[in-house]
Amino acid sequence: MNETRTRVVIVGGGLGGMYAATKLRKAPVDITIIDKANHQLYQAMMYQVAVGVLSPGQVAPSLRSMLRHQPNARVVLGTVTRINPDERTLVLVRPDGPEEFFEYDVLVFAPGVRTDYFGHDEYARCVATLKTIDDAIWLRSRILSSLEIAELEDDPEQLAKWTTFAIVGAGPTGVEMAGAIAQLTRTVLRRDFRKFDPSKTRIVLIDAAPHVLGPFDPKLREAALRALRRSGVEVMLNTRVTNVCDGAVEIEGPDGERGRIEAKMILWAAGMRATAIGDQLAAATGAPTDRYGRIIVDDHCRVPGYPEIFVIGDAANQGDLPMVAQPAMQEGKHVGKTILAELGLRKDPGPFKYFNKGTMAQIGRGNAVADAFGVIKLSGFAGSVLWAILHAWYVEGFFAKVEVTARWLWGLFAMNRRERVITVKSAALGQRPAPTTPDARKG
Ligand SMILES: Cc1cc2nc3c(=O)[nH]c(=O)nc-3n(C[C@H](O)[C@H](O)[C@H](O)COP(=O)(O)OP(=O)(O)OC[C@H]3O[C@@H](n4cnc5c(N)ncnc54)[C@H](O)[C@@H]3O)c2cc1C
Repeated sequence: MNETRTRVVIVGGGLGGMYAATKLRKAPVDITIIDKANHQLYQAMMYQVAVGVLSPGQVAPSLRSMLRHQPNARVVLGTVTRINPDERTLVLVRPDGPEEFFEYDVLVFAPGVRTDYFGHDEYARCVATLKTIDDAIWLRSRILSSLEIAELEDDPEQLAKWTTFAIVGAGPTGVEMAGAIAQLTRTVLRRDFRKFDPSKTRIVLIDAAPHVLGPFDPKLREAALRALRRSGVEVMLNTRVTNVCDGAVEIEGPDGERGRIEAKMILWAAGMRATAIGDQLAAATGAPTDRYGRIIVDDHCRVPGYPEIFVIGDAANQGDLPMVAQPAMQEGKHVGKTILAELGLRKDPGPFKYFNKGTMAQIGRGNAVADAFGVIKLSGFAGSVLWAILHAWYVEGFFAKVEVTARWLWGLFAMNRRERVITVKSAALGQRPAPTTPDARKG
């Protein structure tokens, strides 16, 4: 690296971080992208890994391969644990343990968010989450192992527990997982078991809100609710989770009635909050934060009082935008342009302006709700086609796009799943709760 060139350090090679990096591909700067994982993750497609449609590599391209044609960018694997904004330095922990120090001239902070248990961190021990590729692979093993155990189980009470999947949170992740498990058990695996009937699996989706898919248009919410119920998902709305323990979810319904759902597999898809490193940066800079702990940035995505620090994506509150892919990508691009302007390489892009391209969620095979540009609202098969086109569009690489589209088509017409491996080790895990992915939960 050149001593006189501006050092841009990007924390997080997710959607926001990588859009910023690629915008700077021709700039005379030295970019270091630090990530605790060696891949970028298309979180929107992770649930397809969890139900065996896609393989992990298809939704998690390697950061090195994405940047192989960008000589000014270096990828570093490690977890950033401390930032000193006054000295413009940060510390990362290498995968083998030792710490490394980095200096920056410009910091682009894009670490995303972590799961929020709303003050009940003890729930993490007994629920699965869907935030990292480890989570998706674990979830796939858990779902398939439960069905394998069901084939062997004679005790009806135990059988009911193994074949009940409880999902807490009816946002896009919860809705997509519920729909996908319904499709897996009702159609894909229908003929694969001899003693146990997978279509008898109970899938319960619980949310304290009065509707599914909170941020969507009311008509699309209704369409999603109908589609879920048609596919056999029990949707419990206006229902508060009062406790989660190993093997059960305790609930309180709209009229105060209490209940208990016994389930060996509980997926927590209920909330997100700032990462530990996000909390540390906010404290160190004295930056204001919102109720999720996101740093409230100015209209150039900068931390107030620290013009060299940009915060983007889920970690930032920029005009109270939702924690979805489009703000992260657009903010990443905008920050790249702003840095170029500061180097005198282009004109100032001015304040960040968000362009709403819409939201969508898939509910099982050939069924989705999609709101494109806030104008086109589609549900059912038409929504599903739009979902597939847009998701394949954002996957890195031409061949990966073709493959993802082909897999979607295969999933529509063929009743089989190739990605159904449970390793011998994971099959033997029995009731072990989800693996603690410490970085996802703490970092
Ligand atoms: C299951 C799921 C489904 C989703 N579905 C959709 C959808 O359908 N549509 C949609 O628009 N959005 C969806 N989202 C949200 C979307 O994926 C995010 O809004 C988007 O990825 C945010 O981008 P980001 O760059 O801020 O963070 P991320 O893409 O999360 O990237 C953050 C990166 O930072 C790294 N990192 C974190 N902490 C550290 C650290 N301390 N040190 C080093 N590296 C670190 C992480 O490893 C990660 O690579 C979904 C999210 C999830 C979890």
